[in-house]
Amino acid sequence: PSEEYENLRRRVYTNTKELYYYINHELTKMMKEDKSDERIQAILDQVGDRKRSLLSDQLKLAELDGNHEWRQLEAANVSDLIQRRLHYLQNPPNCKEARKLVCSLNKGCGFGCQFHNIVYCMIFAYATERTLILNSRGWRYNSKGWEYVFQPISDTCTSTFNEKVVQWPDSYDAKVVSLPFIDSLPQKPKFLPLAIPTDLAHRIIRFNGDPASWWIGQIAKYILKPGPLMQKAINESIAKMNFKSPMVGVHIRRTDKVGTEAAYHHLHEYMAHVKDYYDQLELTTKVDVRRVYIATDDAYVLENAREKYPDYVFLGDPSIAKTAATHRRFTTVSLTGLLVDLHMLAMCDYIVCTFSSQVGRMAYEMMQANRVDASNSFFSLDDIYYFGGQNAHDRRALMPHAATDSQDIAFEVGDLIGIAGNHWNGYGRGTNRRTNLNGLIPWYKTADHLVLYPFPEYKQVPL
Ligand code: GDP
Repeated sequence: PSEEYENLRRRVYTNTKELYYYINHELTKMMKEDKSDERIQAILDQVGDRKRSLLSDQLKLAELDGNHEWRQLEAANVSDLIQRRLHYLQNPPNCKEARKLVCSLNKGCGFGCQFHNIVYCMIFAYATERTLILNSRGWRYNSKGWEYVFQPISDTCTSTFNEKVVQWPDSYDAKVVSLPFIDSLPQKPKFLPLAIPTDLAHRIIRFNGDPASWWIGQIAKYILKPGPLMQKAINESIAKMNFKSPMVGVHIRRTDKVGTEAAYHHLHEYMAHVKDYYDQLELTTKVDVRRVYIATDDAYVLENAREKYPDYVFLGDPSIAKTAATHRRFTTVSLTGLLVDLHMLAMCDYIVCTFSSQVGRMAYEMMQANRVDASNSFFSLDDIYYFGGQNAHDRRALMPHAATDSQDIAFEVGDLIGIAGNHWNGYGRGTNRRTNLNGLIPWYKTADHLVLYPFPEYKQVPL
């Protein structure tokens, strides 16, 4: 399949959803204004049925176009290539002579945030051909260090040999460079997310609808390998869960996040999307039990869900949620619980979450990492996908737009629009880089602008 064909197929899918978001939002608004009009709810239900039918058929298109197996194979091959390149980078033939990048794990934040810090360091290492050395002594999850919980990120090269360490960007050429956290970078290199390597881009685009998160997922896959003890604990926990497909994962982030960094979302907001997923699936597949896996840091959600939604079967571990809800969350035990939750979410057929949470984004990255394409397998109640500290995320105008009221902005074909978010009502918010005007944009008239960066091609590693 050509890149153009794949992009067009995905665009039709996204814009079918966008059309539905628009109608759903406008009719719901009308209903709220005029409660007496019962016809509106009936129309909304009908529109929902028609949308699910359209989306269901479109999903089948990709399975029937004769390229299904090719995509599977290509995704496996590109993933394997990236893993071998990272392995090569992390195990240089001569460790003592190799250039290195030192990354400190002691960021005072949760595991999702710390994990993304390592991902950032690894991308930096890959871009600058430096072996990444993790400095994790005194780490809040295990004071002995990363290697006591996870497999080391290198088998053969873990020392700087006491060479002088220079902080980036004071010296680009120093043999050993240490990295500040991404939020403190004085200047942001162009290879930071959401950029993807030029030499792989045209392969990834042909099987995945969201290449930037798939690339990040590949880095995550290399880093996140539990050590034997941790793996055993995770396996034992997962074995008890009785995981069966189909399964929808729901990540509900509450406690300290609510009010400061994200808004509170009721359980029914998540469940509306779970229902929508199963209603669509039932158009083609018989579903005996509607299963939902709940991952959360709110100790009461599971109980509440079982009481309110008797037609669904809920999986989850209340003791994991309880630990996550308290100050004990920064221990190896709570980390085990979080990894169980993340693994379960990543195995689900679909997830409903909030991308304002690093845990929600990490679940999606892990989902992408082991699949051909998970870009249509989630719904985020708030943010679109992003990587904390990323370079600007733009969309490009594919059609012209004349501003119709004071809220939306005009653009011409080809304009780049810096994106702040999607409002899931047919519109997003952004700034037109040509006119500098900020406002609403009809999402369907734009398409994601993918950034390619000429990362090193690691010719030493066979294709
Ligand atoms: P963010 O604050 O949600 O953006 O993500 P962080 O990872 O930085 O911090 C959240 C922390 O809360 C995690 O590291 C966990 O300790 C805990 N947490 C949040 N959601 C869950 C969950 O679904 N399951 C478990 N076990 N812990 C969670």
